[in-house]
Parts: sequence; structure tokens; C-alpha cells
Amino acid sequence: MSRQPVLAIDLGGTEIKIGIVDGAHILAERKIPALAGRGLRAALDRVDEATRECLGELSMDSGSLCGCGVAFAGLVDCGENRALGSNGKYEDAATVDMSRWAKSRWGLELVLDNDARMATVGEWQFGAGAGVSDLVVVTLGTGIGTGVVIDGKVLVGRHFRAGNLGGHIPLSVDSNVMCSCGNRACAESLASTWALRRDLAAESIEGDLSTAEPSEIGFQEIFAAIENGDDEAAAIAVRVIRVWSTLIVALIHAYDPDLVILTGNVTRSGDAILPGIRDYVNQYAWTPGYEVRIEQGEYPAIAALLGAGYVVTRDLNDGKHVQ
Ligand SMILES: [Zn+2]
Repeated sequence: MSRQPVLAIDLGGTEIKIGIVDGAHILAERKIPALAGRGLRAALDRVDEATRECLGELSMDSGSLCGCGVAFAGLVDCGENRALGSNGKYEDAATVDMSRWAKSRWGLELVLDNDARMATVGEWQFGAGAGVSDLVVVTLGTGIGTGVVIDGKVLVGRHFRAGNLGGHIPLSVDSNVMCSCGNRACAESLASTWALRRDLAAESIEGDLSTAEPSEIGFQEIFAAIENGDDEAAAIAVRVIRVWSTLIVALIHAYDPDLVILTGNVTRSGDAILPGIRDYVNQYAWTPGYEVRIEQGEYPAIAALLGAGYVVTRDLNDGKHVQ
């Protein structure tokens, strides 16, 4: 397999990461605000500038790169390298020809896929999932993303959604909590950062959490407040851990993995999260005679970049995207 470095880009909803990636190593990296409300075209101009800076730092030009891998925070047609939908982020994305952009700006072939699926590949190839052939990755962040590997192959599906919509598995028939996707009571609408902020803004909060703007609070702040003895934060944690555990049981029943990896910023508080999830899953997942391991990702911040690098190296080596 070629070891030429790859230009890897993680187009998140709040932040864009740009990296020159070689295997599990980030040779140079920039992070810029996504400003996703202004659209993808506007973001790509800023990605260009950050890419130039990374290449300059390494005294490298784009001709020495293998290709460009992009992780996108939404559904992706990875056959056509086109974004399909993203619930309000980068609303012009479906009209942007990403392959053409990479070719004309950088002379590179492009591979595009959903960010959770790229993070799945990153953890599978370089992180907590190395050597495992059947695994599920759950990214807990602004939303909830999932990706699945079965029998050593990344699950993609007829319409590119297979394994990707775990965050939008409905977990209650009685709840009227609306999700960003238009359904009710999806896992993401019950226990993601955006759902937490919605709930905090609607409630009158006391204790540690009352001093911060709801829009600034994430799960790290919740778990920090618990360490200071905050009861409200503890009640929130009990609820969200129950949601994540219920979702993981559903994913285990759907995909039959040996390993479930939790990644994303939330899992920086892994010590506070994992024991409760393991207990619940051990009790309720129907796995007679074996136990599904539940682990933290090794690369919560960069798994998608590493996955994008790997996919480009693999696919372009196979000649799949080379014209
Ligand atoms: Zn949903």
C-alpha cells in the first residue's frame, strides 16, 4: 500500500479540521470554525487557505500527496462523492462538486464519506478496533453518528446509509421530543450535545450549571459539575447514559459486533460514562455465552481524519477513483 501522505478534511458542523495524514500520523493540522450556516462553498475557500498553510509548514506541494479524503457531517452518496443531506449544516452541499474542487484546486482525486463512517475506519485501522473484524463505532458529539464493520468490511448499503443512522434510531413510542430529522425520540434528540443545550435552555437550572450559557455547556461540563457534587448534573448524566446504553443494545442486536467503540468529545469523560454503560448493556443485550466489549476510542479528535487518510490510500491504490 502506498504511503504517500493524504490531504484529509473533516467537515464538522462546528469545526473543520484539515490535516496532512500519513497512516496514523498527522504531519500538519489546522482547525477552523465551520461557519456551516454560510454554506460549503464559502467553507472550501477557507479550507484552501488552511491547506496551503499545512503544505507550507511541511515544505511540500500537493503533487506529493496521494489524494484527498473528506469526512462530511451528513449523509453522503459515496459512489458519486456527493453530499445528500445534513439537517441545516452546509445547505448548499448537495450542489457542490467536491471531486471537481479537489481536482481543480489541488490536482487530487477525492474520496468523500460520512464523518462517523470515516471515524469508524480510523478507529478500526489505527485505534481501539485494530485487529477486530466486527465492530460498531458510536460518535457522541453535537449529534450522534454511527458506523459499522461486519466481517472486515465497512457496511455501506444500497443507499449508502447502512449502519450510519444509529443516532436516528427512535427509542420511544410515547415521547414527542422532536429530532432534527423530523422524527420523534431519536437517540440523538434525547442525548446529544444539541439536545442537552435545548433542554438546559428550556429549564431553570441551579447549581454549577447555572453560571454558564446553555449554548456553552457540553457533556464535559456536566461530568465536571458532577465531580463538584452537582445533583442536577448527576440527574442529567443518569438519563443520557441510559439513552446511550439503550442505543448500544439496539446496535448490538442489529449488527452482531464483538466490540462497540464510543468516540467523540463526550468520551473524554469516559471514566464517568463507561462503567454505567457496560453494566446496562451486560444486563440487557441478548448475547448468551459471550460479552460484547465496550471501549473508548483512541482518537476522539482525529479518528475521521485518520479514516479519510486510510480510505484514500486504499481506494486510490486499487485504482477505484483514478481516472
Ligand atoms: Zn432523528
